[in-house]
Amino acid sequence: MSSGQRERIVELDKRRVWHPYTEMGRYRSDVDPIVVVEAHGSRLFDADGRSYIDGNASWWSSTLGHGHPRLVAALKAQSDRLCHTALAGITHAGAAELAEAISRRAPGSLDHVFFSDDGSTAVEVAMKLALQYWAQNGRPQRRLFLALEDGFHGETLGVTALGGVEVFRRPFADSLLECIHVRPPREAGSADRCLEDLERTVAAHADELAAVVFEPVVQGAAGMRIYDTAFLEAARNLCDRYDTFLVFDEVFTGYGRTGPMWASEHAGVVPDMLCTAKGFSGGMLPMSATVTTERVFDGFTGAAERAFYYGHTFCGNPLGAAVALEVLRVFDDENVLGRSAPKAKRIAAAFQSMASLPGVAAVRSIGMIGALDLAGDAGYLADAGWRVFEEARARGAYLRPLGNVVYVTPALNIPDPDLERLLVIVRESVEGVAIER
Ligand code: PMP
Repeated sequence: MSSGQRERIVELDKRRVWHPYTEMGRYRSDVDPIVVVEAHGSRLFDADGRSYIDGNASWWSSTLGHGHPRLVAALKAQSDRLCHTALAGITHAGAAELAEAISRRAPGSLDHVFFSDDGSTAVEVAMKLALQYWAQNGRPQRRLFLALEDGFHGETLGVTALGGVEVFRRPFADSLLECIHVRPPREAGSADRCLEDLERTVAAHADELAAVVFEPVVQGAAGMRIYDTAFLEAARNLCDRYDTFLVFDEVFTGYGRTGPMWASEHAGVVPDMLCTAKGFSGGMLPMSATVTTERVFDGFTGAAERAFYYGHTFCGNPLGAAVALEVLRVFDDENVLGRSAPKAKRIAAAFQSMASLPGVAAVRSIGMIGALDLAGDAGYLADAGWRVFEEARARGAYLRPLGNVVYVTPALNIPDPDLERLLVIVRESVEGVAIER
């Protein structure tokens, strides 16, 4: 691409595009964006001919890397036959086969699949299913949700109620559904206290709870915060004891991001509803699913007014379904989970070794996630991570931070040399910022 073409794109972008999670005033005056023209494997290529290792797999979604040849082939083949059709009283092979495949892959007996478009709507569906289930199955007072402090479940107004990250919640705080938040055991030695709190809170609201909704094991947007899996077991037991639903939002943690296919496998806990997106379609197309038990499904049958009157135009989209099916086949054929295990070890070792760097307050890792907290201001609006971002950009890696948290969530099949280079760039970039101070 010529520099003139690049300039035109940036000019149009700054004139017209409203970027997500971005204060547009500063963006327009100060930011020179990476203009991506191609992406292959774990690399992004920009308009200036430079390449960047994609340290965040495009918002944690391209688990098989960009443009995996088999996913591209599946997409092309599907687009020759059927690009889209409604999914109400009409069906197609992709939706049927994918529902079967994902239900077989899901933990326990999660037998029914409701398709929607993205992670937010997958969780929104779970919330609405819970509310309507209780409303029409004898417990209409169950309208309250319980979620985690610092949790994140997406952007619709419904799921914003579940979220606990201050900056995403604050503008809407007065307009949200009712939700109480509990703290998961993230700090060593806090398990007993957090478990007691959970137990006390659930017991106090036992008759009002529509559902307990957690990101299992890792809270992504909170800054890759990892918590004790005993909390998930306790939540399962409490939901059983008081007969309410446990929902796991595996939008980020699913598809091997934390090691096993689902993070809930770390705890051996099966939810009543599981939400999946991002890696579900290999990060290629907007596509998500809410997978439920027979009990939930049965709560909506028997009379017209009991149906779930909810659906998006692109529910079960054939292109997305074809790609999502191929993702599962590639996971098997290429032993993606097995082959990511040594890469996860490299990430763990590299982040551990960064614990002693000047300016690093803490490090953690699990599966294909490595994260470190920069010392100083914490939270999403802290800008320390952006200084590391700039250092990394100059060295050829895309490392979008979460405030003061610098992390990597690369493709699960990132080639070893790219992973090594990425980890070196993280270290050098953190060191570069410390020296600058
Ligand atoms: N749940 C979790 C755990 C997420 O991390 C995200 C996105 N980061 C979402 C839901 C929302 O997904 P989407 O952006 O696809 O709506």
